[in-house]
Amino acid sequence: MPRYDLHCHSTHSDGLLSPADVARRAAQRGVDVLALTDHDEVSGLAEARAAAVDSGMRFVDGAELSVSWHDVTLHVVALGIDPGCAALQQGLASIRTGRTERAHRIADSLAAAGVPGAYEGASAYVTNDRLIGRTHFARYLVETGHVRTTKAAFQNYLTAGKPGYVAHAWATLPQALGWIRCAGGQSVLAHPARYRLEAPRMRELLGEFRDTGGDAIEVLSSSHTQAQATEFARHARMFGLLGSSGSDYHGPGESWVDLGDMPELPVGVTPVWKDW
Ligand code: AMP
Ligand code: MN
Ligand code: MN
Ligand code: MN
Repeated sequence: MPRYDLHCHSTHSDGLLSPADVARRAAQRGVDVLALTDHDEVSGLAEARAAAVDSGMRFVDGAELSVSWHDVTLHVVALGIDPGCAALQQGLASIRTGRTERAHRIADSLAAAGVPGAYEGASAYVTNDRLIGRTHFARYLVETGHVRTTKAAFQNYLTAGKPGYVAHAWATLPQALGWIRCAGGQSVLAHPARYRLEAPRMRELLGEFRDTGGDAIEVLSSSHTQAQATEFARHARMFGLLGSSGSDYHGPGESWVDLGDMPELPVGVTPVWKDW
């Protein structure tokens, strides 16, 4: 069975490795089919594709789109997109502009909590001038000794209810799925267990995602326990959605599940790659 890893990040969003280094590392670790899925960005795909092909891997153009559904932030992984699609490019650019505006509000919120200079501090960790995210703030909070790890930065500062968290309106679900469809890609609901929804709300989300044109959910993700993988395998079958698999790798020292480290999809789940 070929080994798939359909979710990971490079320096074109909040990962630590260049797109070429991500591809080379994936190949060394035995990945056969790789998708690079940077947050709200497609600028790393050409470099990753060239390195992937050089290493004898199959490469899938991807991205991870930030979406607001009611009061919940969702991530939708796009797979098999045409990165040159104008509608997709404009949509992603609008999300990135929103990120910059949000970053100023995060910095104001941190300043009020006694962490000055966070916008400039986070910007020093930005590796793509067009994209700033909470991970960059997390690295600054570690650097300045407010926390010891990026994980603690999220626990103590950057998540709902904590100083340094601000609400934000991302793309809507119909917008995001529309851009992905326009670009000829498949839409995958990323790491569904991360949203911590009660069962009825999760069923509402999965039904609405499918009815809006969603294709698949991540059954296997580094964010999922084995029990959650089993649960989402069942959900995929129940809702007629395909199943995907991705490590969500961000780089050495920040991700404990490495590229290609996922088990096989549970039996009975139709893989998102069935027609590739
Ligand atoms: P953003 O899209 O800017 O809101 O940032 C989301 C990113 O922050 C995710 O893709 C992860 O890379 C990172 N992240 C979110 N929650 C956590 C957490 N609890 N621990 C470590 N990293 C996290
Ligand atoms: Mn990330
Ligand atoms: Mn995500
Ligand atoms: Mn991700």
